[in-house]
This record gives sequence, C-alpha cells and structure tokens, in this order.
Amino acid sequence: MYNFVQQNLYKIIMDDSNRNKSLASPVIDINPELRNIGFADGVNINGPLNDAQKEVMIEKAAEKFGEFLHVLGCDWQNDPNSKETPTRVAKAYVNDLWSGRYNAFPKITTFPNNEYDGIIFEGNIPVISMCSHHHQTIMGRAHIAYIPQINQEIIGLSKLNRIVEHFARRGAIQESLTVRIHDTISKIVSSNKGVAVMIEASHNCVQCRGVNHQGTKMKTSKLTGEFIESNKTRNEFYEFIRS
Ligand SMILES: [Zn+2]
Repeated sequence: MYNFVQQNLYKIIMDDSNRNKSLASPVIDINPELRNIGFADGVNINGPLNDAQKEVMIEKAAEKFGEFLHVLGCDWQNDPNSKETPTRVAKAYVNDLWSGRYNAFPKITTFPNNEYDGIIFEGNIPVISMCSHHHQTIMGRAHIAYIPQINQEIIGLSKLNRIVEHFARRGAIQESLTVRIHDTISKIVSSNKGVAVMIEASHNCVQCRGVNHQGTKMKTSKLTGEFIESNKTRNEFYEFIRS
C-alpha cells in the first residue's frame, strides 16, 4: 500500500510572489524526499503518512515485534507488564523515534533582513536520535550557525530546531545527520556566506553494549564558507558553543 521510491533531490518550492513582498514571511516547503540518512533509512516513503496509514503501520509492526519477542523466549502475552509492549514499541517508533520519516518536512518561515551579515547562532539544540547500526539511542546537542548576506532572508529561529528534529528522528548515523542539517540550511539560505553545524552526542550502542564505555561523546562538524576560510569566524563559532 505504500509507494516506496528512492529520491535524492531536494526540491525547494518557494512562492515567488512572496519573495518580493518585503513584509511577507515566506513559507518554504522542502519536500522530504531526502530522507535517506543512514542505511536503515535507505528506502524512502513517498511523502508523509496520514493518521490512518500510521495506525496500519503500528498494527503490523506490533505483530512482528511480538514474534520477535517470542523468538527471544519471552512469553510477553502472559506477562502483565509486557502484553502491550509490542504496541508500545511500534507506537514509539512511528510517533516518536522515527517520526521524522513519516511526517512532512516542517514549514520553514523566513524573514526579511536588511542590515545583518554577522553570525546567526543557535546552540544546545537537543538531538534525540537512533543509530542505524544498533537501534540504540543517540542523545546530544546540535550547534548551528550561518551568515546571511544583507538583503537575504533569514530563517525563523525555532525552525533550526525543527530541522534538527526532522532529520534526527529516524535511524541515522551522526556523520550523515550533521551533513544533512548543514546542507538543508545552506539550501534554504541559498546565498549564505557560510554554514556551520556541530553535533556532540553520546551513543548508547557504545555505552550499553559492545565495548560498554560510558561517558564517551562523539563530535562531528561540517563547516563551509567563512567558517572554513576565516580562522576568526571559525573561532567565533566555537567560542559561541563554549559560552
Ligand atoms: Zn550504533
């Protein structure tokens, strides 16, 4: 019933009529086809699911998770604490952990900017994600900065958080997540003078299984434009993160 397609291109649909209205706040739709972050997300759903489609998905996934528990020797149906667990797990995936895969890309509002060409920074944006390799949680923070040109529109601040949420809420690997957030901002603020994204996160797959090393943290960054070309600008970005 789902039409699975593989697509690799962003489409930015901007209403041209809004572009010239200086007081308007254009809303940009980026089609969410570029969803394939990490191997687990390599096949894409063609567009967001509606509530009824999500219900069907939850029901089917719960059934299969029940079978998975049975294979592991878990008599979940006769355990009062576990008999709803397959449904709970399926709901958590569809509605929370992987919700970025099933919901539309957030509407991105931009605003006119007639005088600012410094760094726009937002730090400590929560990252709640899941590693594609082990389906364990990735928890951390994203720090984002970009430099607009004068007379170039800027992104509504909370939309940076929404972009992080959209791409984090799925099976992902931190490297790709960093690139995806960077490239999206760079696409929206199309003639920017630089974009910087840094993510620091702890990976449960390292802390709770395998090597079992707690307290480790992974840091990734993608910087372009002045953040690469100018030591001063790059240092300012990292100073903003520290302060
Ligand atoms: Zn992992």
